[in-house]
Amino acid sequence: MRKKIIAGNWKMNLNVHEAKILFKEISDIVAKNNVAHEVLVFPPSIYIESLLKMNQSTIEIGAQNFHYQNKGAFTGEVSAMQLKQLGCEWVLVGHSERRTMFHERDADLLNKIKAALENGLEVIYCCGETLNEREAGIYFEKIGEQIELLKTLSLNEMKNVAIAYEPIWAIGTGKTARPTEAAEMHDFMRTKLESIFNLEVADSTSLLYGGSCSPQNAKDLFACSNIDGGLIGGASLKAESFGEIIAAI
Ligand code: PEP
Repeated sequence: MRKKIIAGNWKMNLNVHEAKILFKEISDIVAKNNVAHEVLVFPPSIYIESLLKMNQSTIEIGAQNFHYQNKGAFTGEVSAMQLKQLGCEWVLVGHSERRTMFHERDADLLNKIKAALENGLEVIYCCGETLNEREAGIYFEKIGEQIELLKTLSLNEMKNVAIAYEPIWAIGTGKTARPTEAAEMHDFMRTKLESIFNLEVADSTSLLYGGSCSPQNAKDLFACSNIDGGLIGGASLKAESFGEIIAAI
């Protein structure tokens, strides 16, 4: 059985007071509704410790970014090892904002995935195509290449990897992929995982959709058989909308 996951990527938003309030509100929603699937939030790193100290065990906490070395002269960076020691359980790798704005290349992403797994963290690996790539009809090829990056991971390591399909043209734009578009990509991703690894990995890897997911469209997206949840940006910043998305799965 693969995990159903709803994850909120808060990006560089909220002050510490707002972050604590939102975290408590989401925890209360999860507890009150006996939510059975996993709910995760990725706050700005500097808030992770304060949120962990709130002991809201219904929600897991992840980091949006980290360095792949465990320690050393990397001014301004934090490592997967340090995050794990803090109590963090997940990391995001490959988000399009990191690929484009911070020039993270495949080799960096693979190093980060390996460092996270070696340190006992679970990974949401993000992939997605640009609008140009979609319009040029090469979106399967592009996502296929991005998933190929995982091919050196062991079957055991893949147990701690989820993949989020996030079409770049849908992130923060209000323009969601239609359920049929998202569904065909998730079907493709599962087949791709089978061809790289095996049927067991393909069946057990959680595949999430991300890109302007909202209370209005979440139900239709999550109804697709190969979509196991969502990575939510803007709509995760309000307990009400995130709660509705949590309930939509
Ligand atoms: C994201 O950045 O991962 C994301 C999905 O953002 P949004 O939901 O705002 O499009």
